[in-house]
Amino acid sequence: MTLETQDPHELWAQCLLNIERQVRPQSFSNWFRPTHVNRFDENQLVIQVPSLFFADWVENHYLGMIQSAVEEETTLVPKVSFVVAQATEADSVHTSATPAVVTRAESVLTGENAAKNTNDDGRSEASSAHESSLNERYTFEDFVIGEGNRFAQAMALAVAKSPGNTQYNPMVIYGAVGLGKTHLLQSIGHHARNLNPRLKVVYVPSEKFMSDFIESLKNHNTNEFQKIYRSADILLVDDIQFLIRGEQTRNEFFHTFNALHQEEKQIVMTCDSPPGELEGLEERLKSRFQWGLITGIDPPDLETRIAILRQKAERNGIHLPDEVAAFLGSYISSNIRELEGGLIHLMAYCSIHKSELTIEAAKSIVQARGPGQTSNLTIESIQQQVAEHFNLTQDLLVGKGRKQEVTTARHIAMFLAKRLTRKPLATIGMHFGNRDHSTVIHAVRTVEKKCKNDTSYARIVEDLSEAIRRQHAPE
Ligand code: ADP
Ligand code: MG
Repeated sequence: MTLETQDPHELWAQCLLNIERQVRPQSFSNWFRPTHVNRFDENQLVIQVPSLFFADWVENHYLGMIQSAVEEETTLVPKVSFVVAQATEADSVHTSATPAVVTRAESVLTGENAAKNTNDDGRSEASSAHESSLNERYTFEDFVIGEGNRFAQAMALAVAKSPGNTQYNPMVIYGAVGLGKTHLLQSIGHHARNLNPRLKVVYVPSEKFMSDFIESLKNHNTNEFQKIYRSADILLVDDIQFLIRGEQTRNEFFHTFNALHQEEKQIVMTCDSPPGELEGLEERLKSRFQWGLITGIDPPDLETRIAILRQKAERNGIHLPDEVAAFLGSYISSNIRELEGGLIHLMAYCSIHKSELTIEAAKSIVQARGPGQTSNLTIESIQQQVAEHFNLTQDLLVGKGRKQEVTTARHIAMFLAKRLTRKPLATIGMHFGNRDHSTVIHAVRTVEKKCKNDTSYARIVEDLSEAIRRQHAPE
């Protein structure tokens, strides 16, 4: 994609949208929201960050991702470097920052990205693209076992050891958001491939399965599509609750399932509820799921939450005092993604304020994070409130109409859906009358730009955002 704009902020905003699709929401708000751009052209990208620790962290964890995002979004390949903002007060680093000297070693983007997609045993581009989409952190080694997930973990491990050859085919792992379904699903892929590197592991979020399929219909190359998905030795399909939309995709999935199962290839799926309770999932699929194993993951108990915090801290080379782990573990409950986000937030906070990881620090971040960890905010409820505010019907809001006041409201609704639910752009697009993810990006950019230029517009957006958040904050 080439952009018309040369504005460094716009370019960076575009890259951020790309990155946001790839990292966890909490990591995004911790490590990317506080960044600014000082220079962005074909030679150099200079990213301004709040502290040296921050620069280190981002460079070590995200440099590759930043480079790929920049190349994808702008077709530029600048040198990427970081500067630390100079602040008079620790608190003001995010706002009144002026750049200090360039501190980070400059890393030049080379042919690295191209190299990523080639594979020494000559597997096709398509399969390596899918395989490399496994997150390297999502392994069994990094998965903490507790009462809530013990059984699911054991079964997943059994499947990974002999894919296609256990009674657990297909296997469905279900559970609420942030409990480790994706982590477990990908662990199977890693482990199986470590044991047998020749296995073709295909991991796919359901939305991607769906959009790949639709794309292949458009381009008249469904054969290609089928070649990718039906040649898998292990097919890992994430969040099948999204598959129930779209008759054709459902049908295609059904046939993919049959083709693989017949050849004793392993299929593992995750779902946000027991598949039997999924309305709109066809009976013929439900009954096939019964052939294998359906297992749930329950929220972690306190002991497990503490164990997870300890493990995450250790992996980050950070000493987390017992009482701080216990405090965080008891305040941030149920959702492991939130738990992890809390810890990252705490580390960033302590780095910026140059303080130790203390209970006091933990208290202030728990306060700052506020409620909303278990918010039941849905895209639909956002649409409803935005429609109400602009005196439109929800149908009109998600419909095809292009009248000015409708598109304005639609853009804001998409923007708020992105901000408040952190759902993938493709998912949001689907909820807005099956629009494409690029439409959502466009809406987000439009709103961000208008907010910058028009304070009364910005007020409306912020007030709406706040009202929606408040209404849906858990008691
Ligand atoms: P889900 O797919 O169920 O929404 P994820 O698999 O994305 O949840 O997990 C959310 C985050 O919590 C991930 O960063 C994951 O690594 C972490 N996580 C979840 N369960 C565990 C666990 N048992 N041990 C360690 N980390 C976990
Ligand atoms: Mg998941």
